[in-house]
Amino acid sequence: MEKGHGLLIILSGPSGAGKGTLCQELLRQMPDLRYSVSMTTRTPRPGEVEGVHYFFRPRQEFESMIAGDDLLEWAAFCDHYYGTPRFAVEQAIRAGQDVILEIEIQGALQIKKRFPQGVFTFIVPPSLDVLSERIHKRGTETEEVIQKRLATAIQELEYISEYDYVVVNDEVPVAVDKLKSILVAEKCRVKRKPFVFKGEST
Ligand code: 5GP
Repeated sequence: MEKGHGLLIILSGPSGAGKGTLCQELLRQMPDLRYSVSMTTRTPRPGEVEGVHYFFRPRQEFESMIAGDDLLEWAAFCDHYYGTPRFAVEQAIRAGQDVILEIEIQGALQIKKRFPQGVFTFIVPPSLDVLSERIHKRGTETEEVIQKRLATAIQELEYISEYDYVVVNDEVPVAVDKLKSILVAEKCRVKRKPFVFKGEST
């Protein structure tokens, strides 16, 4: 049987919902899954590594990527730019690899227009109290930034209906199992949505 195109899995959800932890665990359990490293203009947090967690880039360079249509999607989030470098994702999907993106909602909605056959999955925390507790515990943001992120989180929850799946991240192993089940189910689909990367680079 001919090897088909890979799946594009989009994980979104409020900052502090635990997308990063789930994504890391999923990648550990599914070594063939490929993580798309995003580009951002924010500064690295302690322990974050260039090219592993993000490509940290100056604003000017990010803007020239936008101008060159080199990003599959991008968004301004809490005063910084974030975006998905386009070429690597398109190439991997075409080669039959499954790729996972961990991105916020404005970006996910852009992907939905450009690549509707993506698997759109929303991660939610069990409650807003838990969300607040998780962001505080991370200890990497100032109180002002935390408040901004919490306000953004409440707005973001309104977009769940745009997604195909929702996973509550209460216990990590349970949430990871749910994500794995989603991927297995998507692979077993009889009818995949038609394959198009609208406005694709060649
Ligand atoms: P953080 O600063 O906490 O790493 O990320 C802030 C938000 O930006 C998170 O919701 C994260 O998922 C999102 N994000 C990370 N990379 C991208 C990207 O390439 N595009 C978009 N649209 N959002 C991203």
